Amino acid sequence: MRETVAAIITPHGAGAVAAVRLSGPAALAIADRVFSPVNEERGVRALKGYAAAYGHLRDAGGALIDEAVAIVYRAPRSYTGEDVAELCCHGGVYAAGRALRACLDAGAVPAAPGEFTRRAYENGKLDLAQAEAVMELVGAQGDAALRAALASRQGALGRETRRLGERLLAQSAHLAAWSDYPDEDLIPVERGALTAALREIEAGVSALLATYDTGRLVRDGVTAVIVGKPNVGKSSLMNLLAGCERSIVTAKPGTTRDVVEEDIRLGGLVLRLADTAGLREGKGEAERLGVARALARLEEADIVLAVFDGSRPADGEDAALLARLEGRPCVAAVNKADLPQRFDMEPLRRRVAHAVSVSARTGAGREALEEAILRALALDKLDATGAVVANERQRACLRDAKESLCEAVFALEQGVTLDAVGVCAESALASLLALTGEGVTGELVDAVFARFCVGK
Ligand code: GDP
Repeated sequence: MRETVAAIITPHGAGAVAAVRLSGPAALAIADRVFSPVNEERGVRALKGYAAAYGHLRDAGGALIDEAVAIVYRAPRSYTGEDVAELCCHGGVYAAGRALRACLDAGAVPAAPGEFTRRAYENGKLDLAQAEAVMELVGAQGDAALRAALASRQGALGRETRRLGERLLAQSAHLAAWSDYPDEDLIPVERGALTAALREIEAGVSALLATYDTGRLVRDGVTAVIVGKPNVGKSSLMNLLAGCERSIVTAKPGTTRDVVEEDIRLGGLVLRLADTAGLREGKGEAERLGVARALARLEEADIVLAVFDGSRPADGEDAALLARLEGRPCVAAVNKADLPQRFDMEPLRRRVAHAVSVSARTGAGREALEEAILRALALDKLDATGAVVANERQRACLRDAKESLCEAVFALEQGVTLDAVGVCAESALASLLALTGEGVTGELVDAVFARFCVGK
């Protein structure tokens, strides 16, 4: 019979509450030995799943350790899929340590690093990618990383990989049947259709791979606003970034009366870019409204793109704009680089960390501008889809799958036998399955869980 393991699952020494988790066939029996409920009818073994009882923890000698709440989970409805009891006592190293000691004295063995999550994986509660996401979640720093890890935890990566795997399996199975049973009356494998199908799967794998390069996900996109004096080229720059003519560009100052919005994709991130009337006090009603909106946008925006006219020296208005941007995530674009330059970049660079020279007219500097935006947001590793490739192992699986798929397509195009194509397809399938932990070796599972800490 499987051992029942125990560990402290709360951070060491921190927090008001500490918890010891027991998982395994004897979890409830062991919890029952160390925990006595205040209401005698609410012993651990009498509790249904998801029920809790209040009582006291005692050590092997019967000495009181602490007050506690015991929570019971019954297999398979628990994190690990086994019977689980969690004993929550007061925080601090001492009480939790004694509670754990009592559990070990009562028959539990110490849980290995990552053992709870490993058991969850072995009991089919999580796939391997999700288990890794648990680690990501534990180590997640910022909000974006946390959400990406959560999305992965919820299985987005596993789901997408399985979807691709199933499509590949259908092709593989057909190929195998065709070559293994040539005498059967099977639908013939059509090379063109097979090539198209494999190419499509390969594109899906590549899309997943790209999430690794662009890093984390921010589902809601980033709000950005373009500000600057009239006529510096805000609308033109926005059009350049958006890649289409949306705002009206004319030579007359102050023509963008309202806020024009455009969603653009930037390195896997959605940038909700708003072009405004600029910040100059307008004469007409429409322009004043536009200024008010521009100011409101400026306050809300995740990032500000400040535009300056490179063909003219900086003036008081430029200085006022810079003062407004103090402390905001900001990129300065010095536009009209195609004209003789009269704008001094040096004072600007001293105030804005990300300043680039661009030309909305010729498109020069566009890439540098995009990069600067991503860097200023500290999101140069960002992705906007649900599934995110979280680590090297997952990436390697996808890369192997992609390689094998490319080989299969190449073999088809070269007119190589379908047997050889089938071998490549199967190898791609094995790589996809390895990502979610199906058909992987024990050593690999060991390697994944070795990175956990005890209590996860
Ligand atoms: P906004 O009013 O500040 O949004 O500026 P616009 O985008 O409407 O541009 C004002 C004028 O500057 C238009 O005549 C544009 O054609 C011109 N312009 C914009 N960008 C450039 C550029 O990079 N080089 C040159 N030479 N002219 C530009």
